[in-house]
Amino acid sequence: MQDDYLIVAENVSKWFPIRRDLSDIVLRRPIHYVKAVDNVSLKIKRGEIFVLVGESGCGKTTLGKLLLKAYELDAGKITFEGNDISVVKGKKLKEFRRVAQVIFQDPYASLDPRFTAWDVLNEPLHIHNVGSTKEERQEIIFRAMEDVKLIPPEDFLERFPHMLSGGQRQRLAMARTLVLEPKFIVADEPVSMLDLSIRAEILELMFSLKHRRNITYLYITHDLSTARYVGDTIGIMYLGKIVEMGRASDVIENPLHPYTQALLDAVPEPDPSNRFKERHVRITGEIPSPANIPSGCSLHPRCPYAFTLCPVKYPEMKQISNGRLASCYLYEPTVSDVKAD
Ligand code: SF4
Repeated sequence: MQDDYLIVAENVSKWFPIRRDLSDIVLRRPIHYVKAVDNVSLKIKRGEIFVLVGESGCGKTTLGKLLLKAYELDAGKITFEGNDISVVKGKKLKEFRRVAQVIFQDPYASLDPRFTAWDVLNEPLHIHNVGSTKEERQEIIFRAMEDVKLIPPEDFLERFPHMLSGGQRQRLAMARTLVLEPKFIVADEPVSMLDLSIRAEILELMFSLKHRRNITYLYITHDLSTARYVGDTIGIMYLGKIVEMGRASDVIENPLHPYTQALLDAVPEPDPSNRFKERHVRITGEIPSPANIPSGCSLHPRCPYAFTLCPVKYPEMKQISNGRLASCYLYEPTVSDVKAD
């Protein structure tokens, strides 16, 4: 049912124009664009963790910002609880900003070095007029700090970011979102700058908050090995498009798209006896520039299965099986004849 979905994005695009110099303007050379997000559709159910996976520069952060209305759309539509966010303004926009929050990759850069933990947590309450008295705000702040395991809260309130460890800083950044009782959080590579020893703790915390506070997440990562542990649904992104989407366990256990297969093959195998495990596919070469995306299926210069149709036309996203979507000609029966040619 449509009501099950908190966020629905339909055919959304964000193209950034490449800066032109004077000679380009005088000679009227055409404007070129970086197609950061190109005709992407997705649905995120209430209370789920949707993991968006892809290499650097594939457009996953831009897509996250579009869902938060941090960028305006160039095309398409995004609805949040059934309301079109491109037209929300004034009070409704402020309310959307309260319930749709973000956790950044670098907790040190995302916290003001002049603010104590109390200031960091009190500022959003002040902006959104949450809590009418100091005692009420303190109660909200303490509850958020306890939820992220900054305990006892009194020990941390007067500390500045440089007086906290990397893990504590990220917990504080999470508490900053929680004080506003968010419904949706975009977590943009929240553990990639943390030591390995505390990554699991932070991911577990996200997972428990999802259940305790019924928070819906878009978890952005380049690391498919963590995606399998936290995600309910996984979307694989390549050069501005989602190429495969489905339930996390299905995508990990039975990857369909050659790019997903290659990403999974690249995950280090901790068990030495599996060192010579069968590889699905090897893709070669570097990811092309988003300013110069190959024609047709953008993976075709690197894909070992590419055939005549691949550079000509982009394969539409198709339902392959129950809830599994992929955009690859290998799963279109009518195309197998063309391939045989
Ligand atoms: Fe490879 Fe062609 Fe499938 Fe693209 S459409 S992933 S190039 S086989």
